[in-house]
Amino acid sequence: LKKKVKEVALPSTALDPQSADEWSLMRQQGHRMLDDMFDYAQDIRERPVWQPIPEIVRSEFVEPIPYIETDIAEVHQQFMQSILPYSVGNTHPGFFGWVHGGGTAVGMLGEMLSAGLNANLGGRDQIPIVVEHQVVQWMRELFRFPITSTGLFVTGTSMANMIAVWVARNKALGPLVRSTGLSGTQSNQPSLPTKKLVGYTSAGAHGCIAQAMDLCGIGTDSLRVIAVDRQFQMDLKALEEAIHKDLEEGLTPFFIAGTAGTVDVGAIDDLTGIADIAARNDIWFHVDGAYGALGMLSQVVAPLLNGIERADSIAFDFHKWGQVPYDAGFILVRDGSMHHQTFASPAAYLRRESRGMAAGSPWPCDFGPDLSRGFRALKTWFTLKVFGGNRLGEVISETCRLAQYLASLIQDNPNLELLAPVRLNIVCFRYRHSDASLIDLFNSELVADLQESGVSAPSTTTINGKIAIRAAIVNHRTGNVEIEAMIAAILKLGAKRKEITKKKKQ
Ligand SMILES: *Cc1c(COP(=O)(O)O)cnc(C)c1O
Repeated sequence: LKKKVKEVALPSTALDPQSADEWSLMRQQGHRMLDDMFDYAQDIRERPVWQPIPEIVRSEFVEPIPYIETDIAEVHQQFMQSILPYSVGNTHPGFFGWVHGGGTAVGMLGEMLSAGLNANLGGRDQIPIVVEHQVVQWMRELFRFPITSTGLFVTGTSMANMIAVWVARNKALGPLVRSTGLSGTQSNQPSLPTKKLVGYTSAGAHGCIAQAMDLCGIGTDSLRVIAVDRQFQMDLKALEEAIHKDLEEGLTPFFIAGTAGTVDVGAIDDLTGIADIAARNDIWFHVDGAYGALGMLSQVVAPLLNGIERADSIAFDFHKWGQVPYDAGFILVRDGSMHHQTFASPAAYLRRESRGMAAGSPWPCDFGPDLSRGFRALKTWFTLKVFGGNRLGEVISETCRLAQYLASLIQDNPNLELLAPVRLNIVCFRYRHSDASLIDLFNSELVADLQESGVSAPSTTTINGKIAIRAAIVNHRTGNVEIEAMIAAILKLGAKRKEITKKKKQ
């Protein structure tokens, strides 16, 4: 393990190991940590999906700021004992809560290398940005976007959706809005005509669309929430009616967000239909494809996404179906110059040059609100290169097959009932209960029982006013075994819970 290096006198404040021997210890420590994380991934099935955090463990994280140093081996020990066992469990194949990705060892290693480089991708002429541009180009290809489109890594789809609203707002109101604000008045100038913007999305949309309207200053009252049909897709007739009504009232429809993979049930809006309506009315067409958009990699899902290639912008996450470790959100914008106009700003310390380190303009910081940015592109580049798009697509197809398998087990069991059609990888169902006043509470308690059992971890949602057990199958590690184990645990815990409620009544 020991490597020959020239010993140089370091400043005593340097935070690196101070001698060859210290470096050698650091290497051993690092290899132990890597081994621990490989063990964690390799033996994940022997662990509970999730376990409640004991109070004693929680209390370890309420201590005064440490001014004195601690040996890294000791801190690592604390990680192994008090952190590793108590995360939410989305690496586990029995995790079906919300829509969480599973991560991979490959992605973890990519993340480790980015941390080693400590690259800041705000700008400047450096190969990490070239790597990010490579991923942007791959995404243009995947979604059949033009070369003039632009893309950017962000934290997640919440941020990506917000960037889309910002760009659409800039397009609708013109670049002056950046200085005048939504009121449209400039100091020392007569007030400009103002437009009142309105946006549209479906009742199945993620809450961050409304949040984006709020944070962009347009306000959630200006978001029309369009009803969904029986397939949980946006009702396009209602959408057109809402647009016409707003136009008649002198408002300015500026933004429609379709969803590719709703978070409740995995529905995909009729994207072609929305694209037509947006084109007819000259409205920005955005797709929230947080987890669904990467379905383009799957032969099963891609045909369902028809129309996504006509979007003005697409927001999605590599950290969900793409299996890249958190966080790795992405925004793709068709009109790259509009995207640039929305965020670029001159600042003396960010001066661009045609050569040297300050070349390479425009920089990523010209396309979003972040200046300092990590190298999210690297773990994504590793994941796409190492596995290849086909294999990642097969994972996506397999999660959809597993969802159909789960739905069939539910339909075959008289104690269970399906609450929504299964389009992709999300299954909503419930345990039947003869008492209508108890069934919601019964099912939410049952989900908590299940999570505490450590066997399986779905979450809950509300479907047509009913509490549903919601299983989202996202993890590449999940197979038939985990689906069968969840059903067996639900039947066992459900029967037990029925006994308890019966006894309470008596
Ligand atoms: C997960 C999700 C989001 C939010 O994405 P984050 O990466 O968590 O910010 C938005 N929309 C949909 C449909 C989602 O599934």
